[in-house]
Parts: sequence; structure tokens; C-alpha cells
Amino acid sequence: MEDPVPSTPGIKDDHFREECGLFGVYGHPEAANLTYLGLHGLQHRGQESAGLVSSNGERLLEEKGMGHVARIFRKEQLRRLKGDLAIGHVRYSTAGTSSLVNAQPFRIDSCKGEIAIAHNGNLVNAYGVRDELEKAGSIFRSSSDTEVVLHLIARSAQPEVETAIVDALKQVRGAYSLIFLTRDRIIAVRDPRGFRPLSLGRLGDAHILTSESCALDLIDAAFVRDVEPGEMVVIGAAGVKSYRPFPAEPVSQCIFEYVYFSRPDSLVFGRSVHEVRKRLGRELAREQPVDADVVVPVPDSGVYAALGFSEGSGLPLEFGLVRNHYVGRTFIEPRQSIRHFGVKLKLNPVRALLDGKRVVLLDDSIVRGTTSRKIVSMVRAAGAREVHMRISSAPTVGPCYYGVDTPRRAELIASSHTVEEIRRHIRADSLGYLSLEGMYRAVGENRSFCTSCYTNSYPVPFPEEEQMQKVAVERHRT
Ligand code: SF4
Repeated sequence: MEDPVPSTPGIKDDHFREECGLFGVYGHPEAANLTYLGLHGLQHRGQESAGLVSSNGERLLEEKGMGHVARIFRKEQLRRLKGDLAIGHVRYSTAGTSSLVNAQPFRIDSCKGEIAIAHNGNLVNAYGVRDELEKAGSIFRSSSDTEVVLHLIARSAQPEVETAIVDALKQVRGAYSLIFLTRDRIIAVRDPRGFRPLSLGRLGDAHILTSESCALDLIDAAFVRDVEPGEMVVIGAAGVKSYRPFPAEPVSQCIFEYVYFSRPDSLVFGRSVHEVRKRLGRELAREQPVDADVVVPVPDSGVYAALGFSEGSGLPLEFGLVRNHYVGRTFIEPRQSIRHFGVKLKLNPVRALLDGKRVVLLDDSIVRGTTSRKIVSMVRAAGAREVHMRISSAPTVGPCYYGVDTPRRAELIASSHTVEEIRRHIRADSLGYLSLEGMYRAVGENRSFCTSCYTNSYPVPFPEEEQMQKVAVERHRT
């Protein structure tokens, strides 16, 4: 079969990218330092840029930069971020380009006072709203969808920040977990479908907000509860107030948080990611059994599902591929003679564990197929007698429009190829995916999850899809 896309080196290149991570602290004298630590715990959700905004009770102070949290913030910068309130953001761009102007939190000074915003998700109608705002005279500083919300808040006729936020959010559609910081309050909102996670925690008298609970553990804070889909939480001098300002909608929490994004030591949507990921592997062993000698995870993405597969199948788990964690971006163009350079830089097979074995190779997904093909050939070159690929999710057939960076549909190998064609492409002896029903069994129920990238059925229509639907309806009529 023809390679559907040109080969690109690297492991991450063949995975969906993380989205963004949010953290906030209300009522702690070390708010900025705690937020800085919290962002370390969320670094896996975005490595392009990070930012911190604190409130000293009179005004908002900000620091931002490109790259990893540890490299951006110096002691002097953190010292400047005074105050008992702070919010932070790590970003991987899902909308807008990668540059400092798009680094969040965004901060504005409006007639409603200073406001900072940090966003995880993607607004599907942001371009249309932005177009209208620009025609009405708004000037945008970034290319991010998030800035649209700030403009809508600033222009809202509602006099209070909370009501202006609700007014603004009623005009946008899509996925948003948001944290706002004002001079004296932190406001958290999750969209009515609850696509992206957001949780509340407690550290003594201080209140914490975080995308994932692993960041609470890092600062010794306790998990309290999730911010519910469609809920607005206002944390201020009067304590924690909860509002339900939006009409209720069916919940569509992102199932891919369990498959790949979230850290295994997090509680997400009320479940342990580690537990769910292992159950995905157990279900896979039940649905796609294979006569083999050893289960080998593709690190790190396949590790927990491989544990479950090993438990479910009774086959021993071996770490037959070792990952080098210290590889950043590489800038040399590999020539044909060093074709597998990119993958080899990050992964190395352990010949002693693979030689002469029938290997079950476990990964969470196949996106383009390029990396899987290289890994299969690497495992064979290390002496494996057979290589059976098993994937702990259903075939990825569509892109995500709700805050996850995915290749275009045409680049997703499963969007246009059968499982057998993909098997031939990656040169595996067999290939088996978990079914969507198996995924539902692993998460424990099937009603409250978004599975659009596995089904091509999108709960919140986006302009392109609306357009496609209109064309389809027109065709049907004629
Ligand atoms: Fe998650 Fe996929 Fe839905 Fe995007 S489309 S929110 S990645 S399940």
C-alpha cells in the first residue's frame, strides 16, 4: 500500500498532541509559586508556552514565555508575581499559531476592570464571531480563539464580570474549560458538554483549580470535586459559589483523555486514568487475543494498556523497547541512509528480550501509521519472530474540533484504509484494535463521552461540518 503521508521522524509526530493545562490558586500568600509548581504537574498537556498572572489585590501582574515551565520562569519573575491569587496556563496550540502573543493567560484592562483568562479547549465558531467583532471595530492582538471571549466580555452590556462572562459564553460554541482572574476573584467555567476536564482542590484555606488532579498531589492539596459540565464556580471573599447559567446539554467528556492525554496518576471525570487505561488493555486482550510469547508496550503511551493486556491474556509483560526521555527536537534532515534516525533517537529495542519471540506490540493509537511501521521494523530487526500490533482504542477516523491538535482527516490512515490495509502498511503479522464498545466497557458507561474521532459523529457542529451537512442535504433533495 502506498504511504499516505511523507515519513516524518519522531514518536510524537504520530500521536495526537496534548492540548492545554490550567491551574489556579485563590487565597494563598504563595499563590504564584504554587501555580508555578502546578504548571510543572501539567507540563505534559502543553510544552510550547506557559504563563502566570497573579493579583496583588490592586492590579494583575503577568509573566509569560515560550517553551517549558522550568525554563521560562526565573526566581526574580516569580518574586514579581505578588498576591494571594494566581492563574497559570501551559499551551500547545490547537488554534492560533505558536508565538508569544498567543501564550496565555491573556490579560485585558476593560470597563469591567482587569481580567485574565486561561482556556483549554477550542471554540468552533470563533472565526465567525471574530470576523463580526473586527467589522465592528475590535482589534485583536493574537490569532487565538480565546481572545474572542475577552472581547465579548469587554463589549457586554452586563455590568458585572460574572454576568458579562455568561453573556460572552452564550455567544460561543465548542469546548471550553476556562479560568478567569480578576483583582479579587477567580471564576472557573466548564462548557455545558464538559469536553475538557477541570477540578477543584483545597490546600488549607486556599482553593485550587486544575486540569488534572496530579498537579494537586504535587503541592499536597486535596482533590475536592470536578467543576461540573455547564457549571460556573466563583471563588471570592464570600467563599465558593456555584451557578448553572447555561441550558443543560448532553455531556460529551473527551474519552481520549483516558486513552492518551491525561497522566495515569490523575483522576479525570471522576475516574482513575491508570485504572481505565489498564481496563482498555484488558478489554483489548479479550477482544483481540493472540498466540504470542511476550507483551511489549510502545513507551510511554502503551505502558498501562500493556499492563492490562498482560493481565488479561496471561502473557508476560516485558519492556522490550526503551525510551530516551532526554531527546528534544532534532533539526537534521535524515537522509535515506539514516532513515530510521528519528525513531531510533527516541526508542531502542532490547534484543535480549525480543530475539526469537512472538511479540505483541501495544500502543494507544495509530494516527498516520508512519511511526508504527518504523517500530514494527525495529522490533523485527531486533530478532522478533512475529510482531502482532494491538491498539487500545478504536481506529482514529476523524479529526478533533474540540481542543486537541490532530492531523487533517486525509492524513489519518484509518480514515481511508481498512484494518487489513493498515496491517500491510505497518508490516505487522496481525493488527487488532479495541472496539468502541470495548472502550465504553473500560470507562464503565457509554452516555457521557465524546468519541467523535472514532465515529465521525460530532456533538457540536462546526462550520465545516455544517457546510458539509448542508451540501449532503442539498444533494439528497435533488
Ligand atoms: Fe476527545 Fe476525540 Fe472528542 Fe476530540 S474528538 S474531544 S480527542 S474524543
